[in-house]
This record gives sequence, C-alpha cells and structure tokens, in this order.
Amino acid sequence: MDFTLSETQRLLKQTARELAERELAPRAAELDRTAAFPWGTVRLLGQTGFFGVPLPAAYGGGEAGVLASCLVVEELARGCMSTSSVVAAHFLAAWPIVLAGSAAQKERYLPPLARGEAIAAYAQTEPEAGSDVAALRASARRDGDAYVLNGTKRFITNGSVAGVCVVFAKTDPAAGHRGISAFVVEQGAPGFSVSRLEHKMGQRGVPTAELVFADCRVPADQRLGPEGSGFRLAMQTLDWSRPLIGAQAIGIGQAALDAATAYARQRTTFGKVIAEHQAVRMMLADMVTDLEAARLLDYRAAALIDAGAPRWTLEASISKLFAGEASRRIVNAAVQIHGGYGYVADFAVERYYRDQRVIELYEGTNEIQRLIIARELLGER
Ligand SMILES: Cc1cc2nc3c(=O)[nH]c(=O)nc-3n(C[C@H](O)[C@H](O)[C@H](O)COP(=O)(O)OP(=O)(O)OC[C@H]3O[C@@H](n4cnc5c(N)ncnc54)[C@H](O)[C@@H]3O)c2cc1C
Repeated sequence: MDFTLSETQRLLKQTARELAERELAPRAAELDRTAAFPWGTVRLLGQTGFFGVPLPAAYGGGEAGVLASCLVVEELARGCMSTSSVVAAHFLAAWPIVLAGSAAQKERYLPPLARGEAIAAYAQTEPEAGSDVAALRASARRDGDAYVLNGTKRFITNGSVAGVCVVFAKTDPAAGHRGISAFVVEQGAPGFSVSRLEHKMGQRGVPTAELVFADCRVPADQRLGPEGSGFRLAMQTLDWSRPLIGAQAIGIGQAALDAATAYARQRTTFGKVIAEHQAVRMMLADMVTDLEAARLLDYRAAALIDAGAPRWTLEASISKLFAGEASRRIVNAAVQIHGGYGYVADFAVERYYRDQRVIELYEGTNEIQRLIIARELLGER
C-alpha cells in the first residue's frame, strides 16, 4: 500500500504539528501538574476544525478520513498526550452517531461536535464490565416515550466535561450482548451525574470520570439504531477507533525519541557525548525502528478503512497492539538514556513514561487485542 500522503493529509499534519509545538507542548507539564481541563486549548482546537476532522461534511465536519484523523492525533500527542486524548475520545464518541444515528440525530448532535462546541464522551466501561462488554449491567427500561437509565459507568474520558455522552445499556438484560442498546445522553439530563474523577498515573490533563445514571429519563428518539444493536455498534466503533490510539502511541513515541536523541547529543560522560557510546546508539536505533514499524502498521490500518475495505478488524488490532507495546519500549529507553534525569519532572520523558502506559489498557487491553488477532487469524468470527 502506498503511504504517500495527499496534499490535504500533509497540510493537516503540518497544521497540527505547528499548533502542538506552539500551544500544547509548552503547557503540557503544567497541565500534568494541575490536572485542570484545558478549555482554552480545546476552544482553539475547535476553531481550527480539529474536532470535526473525521465527521461528515454534511454536518460541518472535514470528512477527511481515518488516516487524516490519525495524523492529527499523532501530532497532538507528540505535543501533549492529555490533549490528544480529549480529541481521540471525542472522535470515539461521535462515531456511533455517524454509524447509527438517524438524520435527525445527526442534525442535532454532529454540527456542535464538529465545531468542538460540545465535547463528546463514550460510556461503555462499568466497574464490573471492562474487557467483558457483554457483562455490563446498566439498564434502560422503556417507559412510554422514554427510556429510564440506571447504572454506573467507570473510567469515562471527557465524562465530566462532555455535552454529549454515548451510553451503552441493556434494554433486554436476559439477552446477553444482544440485549445492549446505545443512547445519546445530554449533559444536564435529570438523574445523570458525575460521581468521581480518577487520580491517574498519567494523562492527568484529561478527566476520567465515573458517571451515575439514577432513573435518568432519556427520550426514546435518543436511542441510536434498533434495540439490541449496541454491542455490534460498540465493536464497529472500536475497530474504527483503534488506529487513532495507535497514532497516540506514535506521537508520544516520536516525542520521546526526539528528546532522547537531543539529550544523547549533549550529555557527556567519560570524555564524550553519550551518543558516541555504542550501547546508547543501539537504544536509539531500536527506538526509531520500533517507531517506524508502528507508524507503517498504523497508517496501513487507517488507509484500509479509508479505502473502503470490507473488513479491517485484524489490521486495526495489530496496529494498536504493536504501537502500544513499541511506545512502551521507546519511552522506557528514553528514560534510560536520560539516566537519573529521566526520573525527575524537569525532563519531559518522565511524563511521557507515565502518559504512555494507559495506551496498553484502554480501547481493549493488549490481551484483548491478541484474542481478537488470533480469532481473526483463525477465521473464528
Ligand atoms: C485512563 C482511562 C481512560 C478510559 N477511557 C474510557 C472511555 O472513554 N470509555 C470507556 O467506556 N472506557 C474507558 N476506559 C476503560 C478501559 O477501556 C478499560 O479499563 C479496559 O477495557 C479494561 O477493562 P478493565 O479495566 O475492567 O479490566 P479487566 O477487563 O478487569 O481486565 C483485567 C486484566 O485481565 C485481562 N483479561 C480480561 N479478560 C481476559 C481474557 N478473556 N483473556 C485474557 N486476559 C483477559 C485484561 O487484559 C487485564 O490485563 C478507560 C480506562 C482508563 C484507565
């Protein structure tokens, strides 16, 4: 497959890089320290059109495709991982509306999401249901022209700042995964509240919230797709979104490699810069090899989706798994090359090390990616 980027893709990547270097990277350490949601940056990203990159043009989006969206997320992650997560989670939550929304639902929700006037959150995980999506317990009971939602959602990125939340709940608890349906819940809906914010190891500038639904009435016309279609919708959405998480891994991997290379060129031991020690050169060589392999796998998965391939589950999971693990090796080596300075907050690699870790957990852990990859390989769909 040819990865020569189109003019639009190159331009988007360049614009995202410049914005990330100018606005995100200089604030990333403070964001990590204060964990205060970056509303100013988010508004700027909205004005630049970044929140709408993959969304349909008919609803104000850029309709630029998955590869273009990956390029934007990659560059944002290179500048600030937390901010890239605000955007990636927004895309993740907007996509079920694109896939399953009615014309009226798209008309209502997508334009403000494309402009970044409303931030979106995707609420699937629960305290007792993470990898095992079918085990979720949140319920949605039909009552006249509405559904009554009850349950708790955990670890929801953007959950406390979102204007729009896509929530998965069981309309038929006896039907297992076939009993799951998806709903759009708006901020301020009675019975919908944020019960806590997680104190995280990394990515501290993006909120991860626990959401509670207590007899929360949601109009029936806010259900996405038919009753019982929520599990399939969730799996389709995650398949689409995984290259975006791979792109986050590549962005932070690039940032760590850049920092390690610069440091290796100026730090002196035993009378020469450490870049001249063979052990350090080997680390740098492994880092860039990992990074370029991850980038190719990720762009391939995204390009397959853009090309309208009938199926891309295998490639999407491979890209997320490989990029996630490669980025861990890269940030670890970046800390190693910095010696003791890699362990203190004065140097960005300390933050990269913490920010990277969750890539291997969210949107399907490494183990779940391996299960999917093996299942696809063996033709067990
Ligand atoms: C910072 C952060 C942000 C997140 N954002 C969101 C979000 O926006 N929306 C959302 O819905 N969720 C979100 N999540 C949740 C995330 O997707 C889940 O944490 C993840 O899917 C794992 O679920 P779990 O934590 O319940 O772990 P568990 O499912 O309990 O897994 C625990 C361990 O067991 C392993 N395991 C489980 N089942 C199997 C199996 N069958 N075979 C082999 N190993 C297995 C796992 O790989 C893992 O190592 C977020 C999580 C974090 C930490």
